Order: sequence, then structure tokens, then C-alpha cells
Amino acid sequence: MPGNNNHRLVLFDIDGTLVRCGPTPRRVFKRALEQTFGTAGPIDEWIFDGKTDPLIVRELIEAAGVDWDDRLAEMALKLYVEGLARELPGEAAKRILPGVVPLLEGLRERGALLGLLTGNVRDGARVKLESLGLWDYFPFGGFADDSHLRSEIATAAVRRAGEFSGGRFAGKDIVIVGDTPHDMRCGRHLGAKAVGVATGRSPVEELMDAGAGAALGNLSDTEQAVSSILT
Ligand SMILES: [Mg+2]
Repeated sequence: MPGNNNHRLVLFDIDGTLVRCGPTPRRVFKRALEQTFGTAGPIDEWIFDGKTDPLIVRELIEAAGVDWDDRLAEMALKLYVEGLARELPGEAAKRILPGVVPLLEGLRERGALLGLLTGNVRDGARVKLESLGLWDYFPFGGFADDSHLRSEIATAAVRRAGEFSGGRFAGKDIVIVGDTPHDMRCGRHLGAKAVGVATGRSPVEELMDAGAGAALGNLSDTEQAVSSILT
């Protein structure tokens, strides 16, 4: 294999980085909150980007002024995943972002280990990526089930990479690819490198300001994307 000596762990965010899922996830999330807490608060204006699913639940319920209940929050996320599994396959607007598949193939060819680092709960991540045929690229990951803090999700993803591969990844062996300032910051405590992609809400400059080692407009130039990630 060409250059198969890259001891690199590349951890991908999902929404705005690998895929866009259209309006279905938000609609399903809203219904799940209404069915549990009786309200979804100001969900229509709420920015989800870069936040974990449990944190979004907490913010919306606080904003609605409704009493917090762990059991209801857990049930809301369960209803959300069930609704997503039913309704996302029929979402016409969902798509893989440009260049993602050639990039994942290119990184694998070069011996990089791929994983997920996402604010989605694991079952939600699975529904999203399976509906677009991407789930099997990622044998492990860190998910919102691990923590509501993205930095702790990063730690969990790196631990799983070690368990999966038997290797040890630290500092610049770890590359985090994402579309928000949250993604750029979440691996700082690990000394990880962050690579931004401006296919979400944040422009390149904002991602660089948040500490990205490199930031790209999109991932469609495979050679450029691979080299930004691996060098
Ligand atoms: Mg994202």
C-alpha cells in the first residue's frame, strides 16, 4: 500500500462535515420534545451546530422554562432516534457533502485510522450515516452518549481508537475534522490538530480563529484535503 505508514487517527464530525440531513432531524427532535416535556421551546430559531444532542435538549427545556427531568430527557432522545430511523430514509434533501467519499478512501489508502467524534447520540449517528451508506467507514467513535461535553467525547473517541487498533494515539497523531469552532477546540486538551471545513455555518476565518491548523472551503479537492489532514 502506498505510504501505509501513517500513524494517524482522523476523527470526523458528522453534520455539516460529512453530510447534510435536511429538515427531518429537527422536525423529529421537535416532536420528541413535545411528546415528552410538552414543549420544544424556541427550537425553530435554535442553533444546533456543534452542540451535543443532550445539551440541545437541556438548552431548549431551560429556555422554555419547564422543569428538568432526566427520565423525560432520556425518553426524548429515544423517541428522536426512533423517529429518525423511520423518517430519515425518505428525506429527499439529505446528502453526502462533496468530496467526502474520495477523501475517506484516500485516507484509508494511506493507512489512517478513521473514527467519529460527534455530538449525535450513537444510534442517531448510525441512522444518519447508514441512510447515506457511510457508517461502515467508521468502526468506532465518540458520541453524545459518552458526555454532553465535546472535549470528553474526544477523549472517549481516542480511547476507543486504542482499544480497536491496539495502537496508542496522542498529540498530533490525532486529527479532528469538523465544521464549527466547537470541533476546532474540543481536542485542545489532547494536543490534537484540528482541520476545519467551511461547509456548515462557519467561514474559514472563524475556524482558523478557533484554532484550526488548516481550514478548507470544502472537501472536493481530495489531494488538498488529504494533505491538509495528514501533514
Ligand atoms: Mg457539525
